[in-house]
Amino acid sequence: MDRYADVILPVPLNQLFTYLIPEPLQNSVKEGSRVYVPFGKGRRLTGITVRTHGVRPDAHTVKEIMGVLDQDGPSVLPPQLKLMEWMADYCMCSPGDVMKATLPSGLRPDSSANDKPYKPRVEVFVKPGPKLPVQTPIDLSSLLGKTAVKQKEILQRYLDLSGYDSNPEAPAPVTRKALADGGKTWAAIRSLLDNGFIETYELETGRLPQFSGRTQEPPELSSAQQQALKGIKESLRSKNVCLLHGVTSSGKTEIYINLIREYMAQGKQVLYLLPEIALTTQIMHRLQRVFGDDMTVYHSRCSDNIRVEVWNRLTGPNPYKLILGARSAVMLPLRNLGLVIVDEEHEPSFKQEDPAPRYQGRNTAIMLAAISGAKTVLGSATPSLESYSNALSGKYGLVTLTERFRGMKLPTIEIVDTADLRRRKYMKGLFSPQLTESIREALANGRQAILFHNRRGYSGTVECPDCGWVQKCDCCDVSLTFHKSSDTASCHYCGRRYRVPLACPSCGSKALRGRGFGTERVEEEVAQEFPGARVARLDLDTAKDGYESIINDFQEGRTDILIGTQMVSKGLDFGGVSVVGILQADSIMSYPDFRSTERAYQLMAQVAGRAGRKDIEGKVIIQTRQPEAPVLDMVRRNDYNGFFNIQMEERQAFRYPPYTRLLSVTAKGTDMQAIERASSALALNLAQMFGQENVLGPDAPPVSRVQYLHIRRIIIKASLQMTVKTIRAKINEAVTKTASQNSLSGVTLSYDADPQ
Ligand code: ADP
Ligand code: ZN
Ligand code: ZN
Repeated sequence: MDRYADVILPVPLNQLFTYLIPEPLQNSVKEGSRVYVPFGKGRRLTGITVRTHGVRPDAHTVKEIMGVLDQDGPSVLPPQLKLMEWMADYCMCSPGDVMKATLPSGLRPDSSANDKPYKPRVEVFVKPGPKLPVQTPIDLSSLLGKTAVKQKEILQRYLDLSGYDSNPEAPAPVTRKALADGGKTWAAIRSLLDNGFIETYELETGRLPQFSGRTQEPPELSSAQQQALKGIKESLRSKNVCLLHGVTSSGKTEIYINLIREYMAQGKQVLYLLPEIALTTQIMHRLQRVFGDDMTVYHSRCSDNIRVEVWNRLTGPNPYKLILGARSAVMLPLRNLGLVIVDEEHEPSFKQEDPAPRYQGRNTAIMLAAISGAKTVLGSATPSLESYSNALSGKYGLVTLTERFRGMKLPTIEIVDTADLRRRKYMKGLFSPQLTESIREALANGRQAILFHNRRGYSGTVECPDCGWVQKCDCCDVSLTFHKSSDTASCHYCGRRYRVPLACPSCGSKALRGRGFGTERVEEEVAQEFPGARVARLDLDTAKDGYESIINDFQEGRTDILIGTQMVSKGLDFGGVSVVGILQADSIMSYPDFRSTERAYQLMAQVAGRAGRKDIEGKVIIQTRQPEAPVLDMVRRNDYNGFFNIQMEERQAFRYPPYTRLLSVTAKGTDMQAIERASSALALNLAQMFGQENVLGPDAPPVSRVQYLHIRRIIIKASLQMTVKTIRAKINEAVTKTASQNSLSGVTLSYDADPQ
């Protein structure tokens, strides 16, 4: 009987593809197997088998599978297949988009020229040659003569490293590199080889870092922490998700470590997700001290080869038990998942914006756990409104930890009115006297300071004071940011760089100047104000050449003041920080978005939480032109509940999540009129489906053209009663109708089920 396989292929079409399984392959093509198939004219692709069956598809010819890539069992596990299906559906993208996000490219070779298949790393090792005496100890002088100094030196090194003298039968493996010592010794090694004293052989070695050192017991939990741990375990008996709401520095990480140990002891795997792995070497080291080589790290900055090795290890006989990863780690093959931890669950960076699948990592993790029969723990000092309301409604468990570890006090927070100070001429550049004084005092006491500002570069825009001309990107509708260190103006949307003109191109004025300020300028002013201090800057520009050393230097006290963007807010744990300054809270509070207050509260509370974590009291200075803003007072009083209640009222009044489900449809294209026409027509059709009051837009987003593409966005507020399937069907219907009215040519539509 003929058998067929439905296969996901990495192409942007919203369907599966059916192939005939040739007789000899029928036993090896299984659910989750990777198969090699012909596609289109002479192309060959790797696909994932979703199911096999005996139903011949309704087509002229059915092509055959060419080969199976998985000989020892499928690469993609059943829970993963389910998750992939859910993602394509929920995120409204093609199964191929999900596949590309799931499988490292080294695991899906194709026939195209840029195909870079996975290459195992091979190393050259040295072993004893036939002429090396078995009698030990060996007298090198009689063996090699008096003159061959270099050869003797190298052979001696081999004997030492391999322990040959004490165990000539089974010497330890030694790499050729270890003998070569920098390369000046190749000739001598060559001679030893030619004379048969040593031989070389090749061996496949992995790229994954190995933990050297001994693992340690984690510290004992305080009684408050023990209680929280107990609370989490209890709530997970009846619920699938538990939210740990613990103030900054309450020791959430230590609680996770204890939980992980318990799941591991039951033979379960644990997935530990963090918003941005770039900044998590600290946590990695803390976990590695306890879990050693049972764990690995996985994120989008890992090379594809490393991703393949992690993947192979996880589908092999000895899988990792703990994976610390960024959002993409939810797609790893985990056979035996017992627990998912989502730390800093409120973080916007759990959301993938582009390309598709546009998924929310936290929500996807909860789904993964549900599919795998595992539990989820969400942790944060400032939970998202979504999660906290789920906890209050009883859908999730809730465990609260209100005290910092060792009874440290939360920092005191002072709000400083910069408009008033400037009027009275008390502001010195970017700094209020309060901030300057606090930093001075910290430095005098050998303490450290963190200065937060959410804009990188030197100045916000370059503009002409005479005619108002602003330097903009040629291909995006956005003003440029001036970077003094490279003396260029750059576009933070497409990355293009420009020279700043000497004179205004519009009126010829020579007085062009920068407006607004970024972290580069903060660094410059700090250097002037605190000449003796050692200063470092942590933002996307400096992170390029190694955020790790920046963080390490600050942690070890080799720098005194750390200036940074929101990168400094994410769960970093520095013991010596007594002062945190937020230079311009206004820029945080003014995003034109319904989440802006939530973001502002979370960001400020998290940045403030970096102060006073260890045996010193912390102080936070928030500079602002709007000292009366209610959110500032809530941050100052650490009033999460007050913040939550007010925000929820607003969300209810204006029908925003968590009271509705939000989806966005984005139209992009080079022809602005076509885009406007198409998106207006689509909005009308959507309004017929969802009701006028539930469709917003089309609107031009704040940056309405990126990379020559004009952008219009439509927001749909769907009732929570409506299923994702229904919503998707309605949207599809509206799109089909718009297309039939012939207004979608030249327009690319994309969907986002969790617009941020
Ligand atoms: P959070 O994740 O809640 O911000 P951390 O887990 O980073 O807090 O803990 C803050 C600091 O206190 C860390 O340096 C951590 O090592 C230390 N700490 C927390 N709990 C304990 C404990 N039980 N024993 C020893 N040190 C602890
Ligand atoms: Zn001008
Ligand atoms: Zn640009």
